[in-house]
Amino acid sequence: MAWRCTGKSNAQLVANLKHNGIIHSDKVAAAMNAVDRGNYVLRSWEAYEDSPQYIGHNATISAPHMHAYAVEHLLPYLRPGARVLDVGSGSGYLVAVLHHLVSPGGVVVGIDHIKGLVDDSVINLRKDGMGQAIDDGEIVMVTGDGRAGWSENAPYDAIHVGAAAPSIPEALLEQMASPGRMFIPVGEYMQYIEQVDKDAHGHISKKDVMAVRYVPLTDREAQEIN
Ligand code: SAH
Repeated sequence: MAWRCTGKSNAQLVANLKHNGIIHSDKVAAAMNAVDRGNYVLRSWEAYEDSPQYIGHNATISAPHMHAYAVEHLLPYLRPGARVLDVGSGSGYLVAVLHHLVSPGGVVVGIDHIKGLVDDSVINLRKDGMGQAIDDGEIVMVTGDGRAGWSENAPYDAIHVGAAAPSIPEALLEQMASPGRMFIPVGEYMQYIEQVDKDAHGHISKKDVMAVRYVPLTDREAQEIN
């Protein structure tokens, strides 16, 4: 299903995601149209394929349909002014999409544990016209272990995790706003996206959204050696 979304241009890719029922909202379509995936991949001729692609350091940019699912699920919490954390920010692509949804006034923090990827993501984001947002502190790209979250900008209305954790890191639950939502792949061999909701009173509920295959949320050494 998802592979059918491949297009010849960014606009065609987004149109196909919409046509196949993965993007429902015009807001998500507009945000994904505003971000050219060609600025976030190593091989430009693959940019509009609906597949993950290698970005160096044993990491991949996620497939567009997974980015679309993630943003659709987080959408109720992505209003202008919202604070968002993207754990395992890799290429920076999703940070840019999230930025368009929470602008003006919102802050998106992208965290990855590989400095080389963070440096490349800043270059990608600037190429894609996000330089002002970085300079204004609306996009914050940091190097660190995302399992500890990023307490400086917490609490977060929305948290996206782009790599699979064996279990949900406690620090991420703590850094969710009340109310807030997290979209996180959980599991080792069998992985499921869990949608975690924290209500206004701080009560947490979880729902399995779909079975998936993500790279692991792991130690930096384990990823660099692989
Ligand atoms: N969503 C991103 C990247 C997905 S790949 C994109 O589409 O570009 C998963 C990313 O998680 C990789 O960049 C990897 O370096 C990062 N990662 C894995 N374990 C991590 C950890 N413990 N802390 C922070 N980042 C981590």
